[in-house]
Amino acid sequence: MNIFTEIASLRHFLDEQKRKGKSVGFVPTMGALHQGHLSLIETARRANDLTVCSVFVNPTQFNNLNDLAVYPRTLATDSQMLEAVGCDVLFAPPDKEMYPALPQLKFDFGNLERVLEGEFRPGHFNGVGVVVSKLFHIVQPSRAYFGQKDLQQCLIIKRLVKDLSFDLELIICPTMREIDGLAMSSRNRNLTPEQRIQAPFIYEQLQKAKTMLQAGNSVAETQAGIYQAFEENIHFKLEYFSVADVEMLAPIVALPQVQSIALCIAAFLGKTRLIDNVVF
Ligand code: AMP
Repeated sequence: MNIFTEIASLRHFLDEQKRKGKSVGFVPTMGALHQGHLSLIETARRANDLTVCSVFVNPTQFNNLNDLAVYPRTLATDSQMLEAVGCDVLFAPPDKEMYPALPQLKFDFGNLERVLEGEFRPGHFNGVGVVVSKLFHIVQPSRAYFGQKDLQQCLIIKRLVKDLSFDLELIICPTMREIDGLAMSSRNRNLTPEQRIQAPFIYEQLQKAKTMLQAGNSVAETQAGIYQAFEENIHFKLEYFSVADVEMLAPIVALPQVQSIALCIAAFLGKTRLIDNVVF
């Protein structure tokens, strides 16, 4: 595996590869890799001649300084894991390389960024938009891979690609879960053993909500059921539970309103903020 920390040398390498006619699959990450990330790498490898993974904990997408400070950083292990699954290129730039100066550019994704994560993490999607745009410009991939685990991020990137005419194919990959249903996440590393036992509660509630809706319960009844379950669980502090349309993530009031429904949750388990969703 080739490892780059500088934009110029990565570009030089990729230019040469592209001149040879190689297609490039790109997987942007913030590291602390797990099987969810690796599933994206494996999917990219199957469809491209060359697979590039970036590991960069992007400071501009954190609205909470403590969250940024405690975000796990495990570059040496990440590198070994990437090598083991046959990733061709690791791009791990220092902050100064990506941001010689603080970017002044601001993105506004409209209603899509006013709900859910956007509402609870002001500025988050602006930071995502800036860093992903920079990475797309640097790597210029044929295909880019993102996880449905971060559903709203997928929709934001879809919009970014459309609005800025990035010449690439966006591929959304399914959420990888632990055996007990917990969505794999770098943040799971920050859970205590006791919290780790509690953590699957989030996915259980998503499954429960899906079953309730499919059994004919109204959106209001379903929401009330989920809110009550979180009230009764002392380990969690619910930020939001939303029954939303899968295009704009706008709240759905009555059911036959849309074809596909997204159920989205964000909740704190101790100091760790976890998110998950199901689409059906
Ligand atoms: P992150 O390092 O959290 O920024 O994630 C990098 C990419 O991996 C994003 O596209 C995520 O949506 C994706 N990802 C994170 N967790 C999972 C998971 N459990 N299953 C599938 N993809 C994931």
